[in-house]
Amino acid sequence: MKIVVLDGYTLNPGDITWEGLEKLGEVTVYDRTKAEDVIERIGDAQAVYTNKTPITRETLDACPNVKFIGVLATGYNIVDIEAAKEKNIPVANIPTYGTAAVSQFAIGLLLELCHHIGAHSDAVKAGEWSSNPDWCFWKYPLVELAGKTMGIIGFGRIGQETGKIAQALGMKVLAYDSYKRPELESETCHYVELDELLKESDVISLHCPLFPSTEGIINKDTIAKMKDGVMIINDSRGPLIVEQDLREALDSGKVAGAALDVVSTEPIKMDNPLLGAENVILTPHIAWAPKESRQRLMDIAVANLQAFVDGAPQNVVNA
Ligand code: NAD
Repeated sequence: MKIVVLDGYTLNPGDITWEGLEKLGEVTVYDRTKAEDVIERIGDAQAVYTNKTPITRETLDACPNVKFIGVLATGYNIVDIEAAKEKNIPVANIPTYGTAAVSQFAIGLLLELCHHIGAHSDAVKAGEWSSNPDWCFWKYPLVELAGKTMGIIGFGRIGQETGKIAQALGMKVLAYDSYKRPELESETCHYVELDELLKESDVISLHCPLFPSTEGIINKDTIAKMKDGVMIINDSRGPLIVEQDLREALDSGKVAGAALDVVSTEPIKMDNPLLGAENVILTPHIAWAPKESRQRLMDIAVANLQAFVDGAPQNVVNA
């Protein structure tokens, strides 16, 4: 079987191996593929993997040998799954692989907002400690989290794990989710409606998927309902936040700080209003990317193709 990986670089920049796939066929891995090269690169392959490279109806019409499409991610909106279904091609995704990494990263973003460890380390290396008249100095307000409240919007796998770590830091958790699991409630963790979460939280962390109902959930109006000096964390999806509204709230001090791993358009555009804000921390969509997490993703991607070969496809999103 010929297997083509259209954009393998972010999953495996060289520190893990494709050998699991190589056991299943003749593998060609491209680091990245432009839209105009997709058809030629797939050619007569039977199995195709994509992460963010679109696979359209036109591509499937032009590549009739394709029998399996693997998505190297959870989100599969880049594949025309209806066109694939019409052609009897299963599209298999990776439903979950990074819960530990993404929740750890959310707390990492929060700790960075509370202590600005990176900025302080940079200041020390730049000589600011050596030339300081006192034995210590800090450049930002430092924040203790114990006793504060974290509001978690989207209390699924990652939201719950983030909540557990927050509670270990002595925080209370208020959860907002369209589907409630009462067994998750405790003395320090309660479900509330969105307005109460906005009003009571010192930190708001976003962990819901991007749906029409959640797009722009952080906007002028919802920010107005938040506590003065709230901190906002987002390592879910950029369009959950109306970025211009957040920029204005950061500039006014209504929002004391925001730490974001995702933005509305990725890679970030240089005119993104958040780039110029003082009290924002931005990272390039890396919450998912520790090696352990990518290895898990790779293992599931291989298992998806193996299951297809064995006649019992798994993780199929267009069944
Ligand atoms: P999940 O499906 O386990 O949890 C999502 C939760 O959101 C569910 O409990 C669901 O009921 C809830 N929800 C859905 N619609 C809602 C709404 N309108 N209002 C409130 N809650 C709503 O998903 P997960 O594994 O926890 O992942 C959460 C998100 O994290 C993903 O959708 C993805 O966008 C993001 N993510 C980001 C990275 C990264 O690298 N930054 C990596 C993986 C996942």
